[in-house]
Amino acid sequence: MLSQRLQDALNAQINAEFWSAYLYLSMSMDCAAKGLKGTSHWFSVQFREEQDHARILIDYMLSRGGVVKLAPIAEVRTSWNSPLEAFEETLAHERRVTAMFDELCRLAAEEHDYATANRLVWFVDEQIEEESEAQEKLDALRAVEGNKFGIYMLDKELGARTYTPAAPLAAQGE
Ligand code: MG
Repeated sequence: MLSQRLQDALNAQINAEFWSAYLYLSMSMDCAAKGLKGTSHWFSVQFREEQDHARILIDYMLSRGGVVKLAPIAEVRTSWNSPLEAFEETLAHERRVTAMFDELCRLAAEEHDYATANRLVWFVDEQIEEESEAQEKLDALRAVEGNKFGIYMLDKELGARTYTPAAPLAAQGE
């Protein structure tokens, strides 16, 4: 049985994942409005991945007899000056999410809840990828800053991203 403290923390994380989804959907729409079709697609894949993260936590809580509470999702920003700025915010945001999972891991250890600690390992690994992907895109955007052709080519590259369901969801056939 999940402790109340852990249930509250997991519910807060579910909300944070949906907020992340909202943030990336907003970035996707902003890029689309500015003619950056590929970058818009990249963020729309990110939007789906964040929903997967929430779903994994929801499924986990349900499997442990926890009570999932879906709280309101706070408003997100709607406009960025450039894809560079959007990716700067993405990296900063993912670093905050990493810190949230570190805190969740600490709490799970404190509660001697090893099943939760194990489930969280997937997220800890995922955050390494999230941060390094954002950093990689940021580096590329910095390299082509001010170069319209470079941005055009990079936008095409970002448009090639494919969505694959997160491993824990794929494992259960979703
Ligand atoms: Mg996430």
